[in-house]
Amino acid sequence: EAKTTGRDMALFYSAETDQRALARQSMEQHLRRALGRDEFSLHYQPRMSARGARLLGVEALLRWNNPVLGMVPPSEFIPIAEETGMIRAIGAWVLQQASAQWVAWQSLECEGPNGPMAHPLSMVPVSVNLSAAQLGDPQLVPDIEALLARCGMPAHRLELEITESQLMDHANSAERQLAALKALGVQLSIDDFGTGYSSLAYLKRFDIDRLKVDKSFIHDMLTNPADMAITRAIIALGHTLNLKVVAEGVEDLATAQVLGALDCEELQGFHFTRPLPVAQLEQWVLQHAQRPAHGDSRFG
Ligand code: C2E
Ligand code: MG
Ligand code: MG
Ligand code: MG
Repeated sequence: EAKTTGRDMALFYSAETDQRALARQSMEQHLRRALGRDEFSLHYQPRMSARGARLLGVEALLRWNNPVLGMVPPSEFIPIAEETGMIRAIGAWVLQQASAQWVAWQSLECEGPNGPMAHPLSMVPVSVNLSAAQLGDPQLVPDIEALLARCGMPAHRLELEITESQLMDHANSAERQLAALKALGVQLSIDDFGTGYSSLAYLKRFDIDRLKVDKSFIHDMLTNPADMAITRAIIALGHTLNLKVVAEGVEDLATAQVLGALDCEELQGFHFTRPLPVAQLEQWVLQHAQRPAHGDSRFG
């Protein structure tokens, strides 16, 4: 009996494995054509100050809309892009698109009390997520330098985010690249901080500007004492090392207020807004981030 069940299970699993392999192969084929068919776009999520809810920056997040597969989340296609090497071309597209958007925002105006004035989006940096595979590309730094020059974009207006786990997996090759990026003047953030290896030695090896506390700690921090303790510890560590600390995944006012009280100066999350397409972001910023004094209750 047990043997039969075991064999059936094995058949069942291998059929399922085949299915998954096929689905993955099909996704890979669609992904190969996605750039050429213009199926990617960028959404942007604001980063806000805990005090006063000022707009501090926007993070570009890649979206893939395929006519057959529909909207595919980055958690599904980014790993495939990384394994196949497609991430270099896709990542280059993201960098180009985000810096072109930054340039477009420089001349964006809105209605002020005394006529047209600069839109808040014209005053903030843009963040782009980087894969370790991109960091391993010797062309990355010269490409970014050329891109910035072409756009007339000051390097400090570009922020690059790399996850802690990717950084630790490639610490040696990443070190020189990160130093070269830093020498260009771009800002560097460690994304998903706290979920990678527990070795913190790299924080003194790399010249980092910002830690982004992973959203898994933020999500339950009000009810889970361990998450609260870890969040507090990361904030204290960041400040001791003179880094800015961002909480990502802030979903409600109570969490935003507690983080503010803990001196976490920068917040990002659905509490403010989901990542938005450009036109919606421009509207959102005008409605929610321009005049915080006029009291949007979500911002305490
Ligand atoms: P990430 O860089 O840590 O980005 C934050 C993710 O959390 C985004 O998911 C965002 O939509 C989501 N998020 C924001 N606020 C909240 C919140 O309050 N609650 C919850 N539950 N989630 C929130 P998204 O857009 O699905 O991206 C997932 C990951 O995919 C990113 O995590 C990043 O690692 C990667 N990714 C996205 N775009 C790119 C890209 O252009 N290049 C590379 N290499 N990776 C990218
Ligand atoms: Mg990020
Ligand atoms: Mg993150
Ligand atoms: Mg992530």
